[in-house]
Amino acid sequence: MKPSCHLPSRRNWLLTSLGLSAATVAPWLAHADNDDHDFEHEVSSNISLALAQTNVSGHVVVVGGGMAGASTAKYLRLWGGAQLHVTLIDTDASYTSNIMSNLVLTQQRTLGSLDYKRDVLASSYGVTVVQNRVTRLDTANKQVILASGAPLSYDRVVVASGVEFMPAYGLTVSDYETKTPHAWRAGSQTSLLATQIDAMVDGDTFVMTIPLAPYRCPPGPYERACVVADLLKRTGRGNARVIVLDENPGIQAESGTFQNAFSFVHAGVISYQSNASNIQINPDTKVVTYSVGNGAMQTINAKVVNPIPPHRAAGIGASTLADNDTAGWFALAGLNNNTNTSYARRWALVDPLSYESRAVPYVHVVGDAAQCGLPKAGHVGNQEGKICADAIVRLLGGGAPDSAPVANSACYSPITANTASWLTAVYQYDVSSSEMKVASNGGLTAGGAAVESASISSRNYTQMGVWFNTLMKDTFA
Ligand SMILES: Cc1cc2nc3c(=O)[nH]c(=O)nc-3n(C[C@H](O)[C@H](O)[C@H](O)COP(=O)(O)OP(=O)(O)OC[C@H]3O[C@@H](n4cnc5c(N)ncnc54)[C@H](O)[C@@H]3O)c2cc1C
Repeated sequence: MKPSCHLPSRRNWLLTSLGLSAATVAPWLAHADNDDHDFEHEVSSNISLALAQTNVSGHVVVVGGGMAGASTAKYLRLWGGAQLHVTLIDTDASYTSNIMSNLVLTQQRTLGSLDYKRDVLASSYGVTVVQNRVTRLDTANKQVILASGAPLSYDRVVVASGVEFMPAYGLTVSDYETKTPHAWRAGSQTSLLATQIDAMVDGDTFVMTIPLAPYRCPPGPYERACVVADLLKRTGRGNARVIVLDENPGIQAESGTFQNAFSFVHAGVISYQSNASNIQINPDTKVVTYSVGNGAMQTINAKVVNPIPPHRAAGIGASTLADNDTAGWFALAGLNNNTNTSYARRWALVDPLSYESRAVPYVHVVGDAAQCGLPKAGHVGNQEGKICADAIVRLLGGGAPDSAPVANSACYSPITANTASWLTAVYQYDVSSSEMKVASNGGLTAGGAAVESASISSRNYTQMGVWFNTLMKDTFA
């Protein structure tokens, strides 16, 4: 049944407030005519899904249309109904999935196969999708400011802008782009790293570094080491070396799986070093130096260096991204309020019942930019988006968020070209810490732990494809 809406026209308001003309907006909006048909009617009559009639109305702006933001926008419309207006803003025309991007390095996938458009969010759910950059949050006046300078008013704003990467190990942000790619956001750096690996010859050395946790995708770096080692072996470069310099005291996820992979499956190729410190990388010579504990400095002459630098919520640094540069819009809005001593002011502390910032009312933060006890992962971002959407719908309807949210995380890691492992956990809200904690046997346990697959198998590899397609469909379609 088609919803009937009789709200005042908002089309002109929307176009003007976005600083856009009809020609530059999503097609369904551009087709809305200029006569006395109201904007709501145009939206409702052009989307393919009949949305629920609820008592909820308002305008939610979502900043960032990646894993967390796209999920939030979709489910806000799905659960909020036809009178809840949702505008999704992203700098990019489409989204390139980080998940599976390690397989671009091994040429098992193309970047194009990881490209997700946001058209269906508009055409099926009536999300207003806008390609633009958010440059400021005016939280006093509840407005999002775009690069064009146009203010966009909100009842609630959801920030899902992901992460930005800091200069580290003697490298600049420009070095990441041109010489020593981190490729920890899929895109041109992924292609550059793939090309560099392709040019390695037998006997060459590949060095990767892992920053102190929390970082994006806990098993991801170890997965990358495995698939690169596997590629080198499969392509006649079995005497090449993959050296992993981990700043953490040990493997951060799926430790059983990766210890097995490093010691047996890829024995002789992968060398793993925990507690690596004082890492310095020369972007031109590819000489890497580091130490462990009080030990002497070690030197590696690498062919390819893949530093995964420390990162933080996107929008903290305005230009240099240095530790003392907090002139970005996220920081200026006061959202980077975490106090953990080793990485203070890098993330947004949020209430896991609603993902509302603990510092700034009416601003919610989901995905990698948030800190609430959940790992930084795309599957988790999708879950957080749904919990946040549900909470906002309840709040706009005059209620309170669900007091006992549950989230799950699932992740598959390729270990070779045709085998994979997996990791999963269920999280529940823990009242005493006000954080999400791993649940065990249906109840909370202090030491609850994620569960990893008992073996590395080809069956897991097949299931990985099913999981990935399902997750991306739930997020973008
Ligand atoms: C190699 C690799 C493998 C991974 N594998 C897995 C896996 O197997 N499973 C898993 O669950 N996770 C995995 N991850 C992690 C996952 O990709 C991230 O955790 C997830 O993408 C985070 O979602 P997000 O929405 O917070 O950020 P993102 O997905 O990065 O989205 C952020 C969006 O915000 C936009 N944006 C930023 N700033 C602005 C602005 N100022 N204005 C407008 N838009 C803006 C960006 O353009 C982007 O589209 C992997 C990551 C990597 C690097």
